[in-house]
Amino acid sequence: MQEDNFETLAIRLQIERSQYKEHSVPLYLTSSYKFDDAEEMRALFANEKEGNVYSRYANPNTDELINKMSVLEGAESGWATSSGMAAIFTTFMTFLASGDHVLSSRSVFGSTHQLLNNIFPKWGITYSYADLDKPEQWENGIKENTKMIFVETPSNPGIDIIDLEWLVNLVHKRNILVVVDNCFATPYLQQPIKLGADISIHSATKFIDGQGRTLGGIILGSKKLMKEIEGFARHSGPAMSPFNAWLLSKSLETLAVRMDRHCENAFKVAEFLEAQPTVKKVRYPFLKSHPQYEIAKKQMKQGGGIVTMVIHGGVDAASAFMDKLNMFSISANLGDTRSIATHPATSTHSKLTEEQRLEVGIEQGTIRLSIGLEHVDDILKDISQALS
Ligand SMILES: *Cc1c(COP(=O)(O)O)cnc(C)c1O
Repeated sequence: MQEDNFETLAIRLQIERSQYKEHSVPLYLTSSYKFDDAEEMRALFANEKEGNVYSRYANPNTDELINKMSVLEGAESGWATSSGMAAIFTTFMTFLASGDHVLSSRSVFGSTHQLLNNIFPKWGITYSYADLDKPEQWENGIKENTKMIFVETPSNPGIDIIDLEWLVNLVHKRNILVVVDNCFATPYLQQPIKLGADISIHSATKFIDGQGRTLGGIILGSKKLMKEIEGFARHSGPAMSPFNAWLLSKSLETLAVRMDRHCENAFKVAEFLEAQPTVKKVRYPFLKSHPQYEIAKKQMKQGGGIVTMVIHGGVDAASAFMDKLNMFSISANLGDTRSIATHPATSTHSKLTEEQRLEVGIEQGTIRLSIGLEHVDDILKDISQALS
């Protein structure tokens, strides 16, 4: 296709229609495909011919989603998985071996932390953490056996940011993969591959679906790296179902307009919270008070849909705020049309010790707000009455 604007590609990059000429892409609910003859079957299994074999490997709906995501992020290729964690696990398993070391940002999604901390030690994979806002920890943290750098930017829930171009330069020419969990930004707001990262990962469960309906994960990168991902994923089976791919591909059609509104609402919420005396701290990438505001402006199109605040009065004040909310949902999810409040210390990050939580900037009074698509006046009204 000739057009290269994000919105147009997200809508028009679709698979061919069947003989019925449907306007909307159909759902291919089939576990396997048949072959014209024995020779075709042989050629497909020998990778001498392109084509569908089995839905654990590929399916027209997952193909469409992967192609769209790759083009939107500027990646050569990709792979779809059943969830964001399956994407992260598949990436780790494909590129790490016993004896390897991962240098990761300290503030990572709870389950990513569990993989590094509880699961990988039994396979002899080690890790250490560095803070996104402390360049020297990255410079000094790389070891002889470091195979991968893993970062979430903006981070969850601390909303810390790292300069991706700087990070890519740091490992330049060393045999280290730079992997970015791009979940909070989506391809619309940030494109890590274009900034030099090797792999970009998404939990499509969040803003890509955007309506709280389904799970999904996406891995994006060069053809060469994705071939290696395929080598692991084809046989270990973290495949995305055709139904979820179909849904997520349709969701991408509205990603840009949804993100514009998420960002517009979230920015207004962040500005409002900053002016409240009961609020101790507000973190939002595009607030001038954000310590990495300049970097956020450089590498993100807008600030995203998540605002994190710390309210005075610790866990009691946080619980009182949550209980007073009328419209906001109390949920652990994010990136939904519905605004959501989460208290990380007692939910998503409850498995960390108090000390570990403080290291990643989670206080007892920290509340993560996923700002939805309701009218911003209603969002502000609910927050305002719950704070009073
Ligand atoms: C939700 C999330 C994940 C995990 O995704 P699932 O689809 O729930 O498996 C990974 N990283 C980040 C930043 C997330 O928010």
